[in-house]
Amino acid sequence: MKAMEIFYEISRDPYAYARKWKNQTGKKAVGYFCSYTPEELISGTGALPLRIFGTREHITCADSHLQSYCCSLVRGGLEDALTGRLAFLDGTVFPHTCDSIQRLSDIWRLNAGFPFHIDVILPVKLDTESARTYLLDVFHKFRRELEQELGPISDEKLSETIRLYNNIRRLLEEIYLMRSANPAVISGRDVYAVVKSAMVMDRNDLYGALRKTVDALKKESPAADNSKRIVLAGGVCNHPDIYSHLEKAGARVVWDELCTGTRYFEGMADESGDPVAALAQRYADRIVCPAKHCGADKRGRNLVDIVKNHQAQGVIFLILKFCDPHSFDYPYMKEYLDKKNIPSMLLELEEQLPAEGQLATRFESFIEML
Ligand code: SF4
Ligand code: SF4
Repeated sequence: MKAMEIFYEISRDPYAYARKWKNQTGKKAVGYFCSYTPEELISGTGALPLRIFGTREHITCADSHLQSYCCSLVRGGLEDALTGRLAFLDGTVFPHTCDSIQRLSDIWRLNAGFPFHIDVILPVKLDTESARTYLLDVFHKFRRELEQELGPISDEKLSETIRLYNNIRRLLEEIYLMRSANPAVISGRDVYAVVKSAMVMDRNDLYGALRKTVDALKKESPAADNSKRIVLAGGVCNHPDIYSHLEKAGARVVWDELCTGTRYFEGMADESGDPVAALAQRYADRIVCPAKHCGADKRGRNLVDIVKNHQAQGVIFLILKFCDPHSFDYPYMKEYLDKKNIPSMLLELEEQLPAEGQLATRFESFIEML
C-alpha cells in the first residue's frame, strides 16, 4: 500500500527523519523515554517529541556506565547518546518509571551532554486522589521547565494539540479495530511501522498520513484467512520480524498490550476545561504498566478482556531480557490467563532475535496447540 511507504522509511531510521525535519523546519527536537511522557506538552512548544528506542548496533560505550544486566532499551539508548547518533536532539525527558530508566536518567545527565534534561517525577501509584493532585502539580512543573527551554505554551495551543493527539489516537485505534475485524487487511509489520512512526513523526503530518492509511484500508477487502488469532503482551518490541515469523507460522496478531502498541495510544484526554488537568487525568485513568503500582488484578482482568473482546486464541508475552517490571509481572498475568484456559507462551527478547529456525519451531508448536 502506497500510504505505508512513509511509515516504513521513518520506522527504519527515525533519527534520519528527525534530522531532516529539523533542517527543513528550523524547529527543535526533544528525545524522550517511555509513554509516561506527556508528549502534548512538548508538541505544544512547537518542538518534535521523539521516542528513543535504542540502537540495534553493537553496544560498546554504554557498557562502561551500565551493568550488562540492564535491558537493551536502556543500554541502546545510552549507546546512541554517547556515540553522537542523538547529537541532533535539543533536550531529553525522563519520566519516573522503572528503576532502569530512573538510573539511566542520572547517568545520562552526567555523561550525555544535551542542552537540557528534564525528569518528570510521576507518582508510583496513580490510582489515589492524592496521586492525581500530585500528578497535576508534576505536569504543571514540567510545563514551566519546558517553557524555560523552548518558549511559552499557551492554553489555546495546548488544547489544540490535545485535539490533534486525540484524533491521532482515534485513527490508530481504527487501524487496530479493522485488523481485529479481518487480520488479513494489514500485516503485523505494517502496523508496527505505523505505531513506531507515530512516536517520531511531525504530528500534523502523521495525522494526514494516518487518515490516508485508514481510507486506503477501508477500500481493501481481502478474504479472511484461517490464521490463529494472537494477542501480544509485554513491553517494547523492537523486532518487526516477529510479525512476519508469526504470520508464516499460521497466526496473526489481532491486538496487543505493548509499549510499541496500544500502550502508546490508549485513552483520550478531555478536550474541554484545563488542558494540563486533562493530560494528568488521562494518565490517572489508563491501565498502568507494571512499572507502576496498583496490584496485578486490574492488568490481569484487562488482558483477559482483550483476549475475549478480540476472539484471540492465545497470548504471546514479549519481554526484553533484564526487564524487571515485566518479568516480575509475567507469572501473575499468566495465572490470570491459565484460570480462563487461555494458552500463552513467553518469548524473551534480546538485541537480536533467536535464529529463524529456532523461532519458527517455537511459534509453530505454540500455534499448533491452539
Ligand atoms: S513498560 Fe512502562 S515503564 Fe517500561 S517503557 Fe513501557 S510504559 Fe514505560
Ligand atoms: S520497563 Fe523494562 S524494557 Fe522498559 S525501560 Fe524499564 S526495564 Fe527496560
